[in-house]
Amino acid sequence: MTTAEWADVDRYIVDTLVQDEETAAALAANAAAELPAIDVSPPQGKFLYLLARTARVRRVLEIGTLGGYSTIWLARAVGEKGQVVTLEFEPKHAEVARGNLDSAGVGDRVEIRVGAALDTLPVLAGESPDPFDLVFIDADKVNNPNYVQWALRLTRPGSVIIVDNIVRNGGLADATSDDPAITASRAVLELLAAEPTLDATVLQTVGNKGWDGFAYAVVNGDPTD
Ligand code: SAM
Repeated sequence: MTTAEWADVDRYIVDTLVQDEETAAALAANAAAELPAIDVSPPQGKFLYLLARTARVRRVLEIGTLGGYSTIWLARAVGEKGQVVTLEFEPKHAEVARGNLDSAGVGDRVEIRVGAALDTLPVLAGESPDPFDLVFIDADKVNNPNYVQWALRLTRPGSVIIVDNIVRNGGLADATSDDPAITASRAVLELLAAEPTLDATVLQTVGNKGWDGFAYAVVNGDPTD
C-alpha cells in the first residue's frame, strides 16, 4: 500500500466517523494562523477521546499543545467537571489554542501553561496537583525520555502515559541512527522496558501523516490504593 492509499482510507474514516464542526474549525484556524500541520490525525484524536472516555479519565496532562486540536478531543472526554493541563512552548501556538478551545466550548476546563515543558513541569509538580489519569506526550521529541520520567511523578497506579511519534517512518528499529528523535524514541522504549512501575507497548499507525505510531504505557499497581 502507498501513502496515498493510506490517506484515502483516512479520509473515508474521517468523513464517516470522525469529522465534526468544532474540530474541523480548529484545524482551519490553525492553518489560517500558519501553524505547522503537525497535530495528531483526526482518527488518532478521536481515538484519544474514546480511550479517555473508556478509562473514565478526569484529569489529563498534555505536553505539546500546538493549536489545541488534540486538546479539544481530550477536553471533551474529561467532561464538564474534568481538567486538562496542557504545556506549550510557543506563545503564538498557545494563543491560537485558547481561541480554538473556547470556540469548541471546552475552554473552561483547559489550562494552558506557556514555556519550555522542562521548566513548567517542575512548577506544576511543586503545586502537588492531584494525580493525572492520562498524560499525552507530544512536544519536542528529544526530551521524550525526560517527559516520561515527569509523567511517572505526576500519575497514579492505573494512569495511562502515551508518547506520540515513536515509530518515525520505521526509524525506531534502526539502532545505528544518529537522528536525535530516533535515539530518543529508542531511549523511551528502553526506559519503558526497564521501569518496573510501567507496562507498555507500541502501536504502529499509517494514514495521511505517513507511517508512525505511539507508545502506550500503564502505571502498575492497584488503582484503588
Ligand atoms: N498535540 C498537538 C495536537 O495534536 O494537536 C500537537 C503538538 S505539536 C506535535 C508539538 C508542540 O510542542 C508544538 O506546538 C511545539 O511548539 C511544542 N513544543 C516544542 N518544544 C516544546 C517544549 N520544550 N515545551 C513545550 N512545548 C514544546
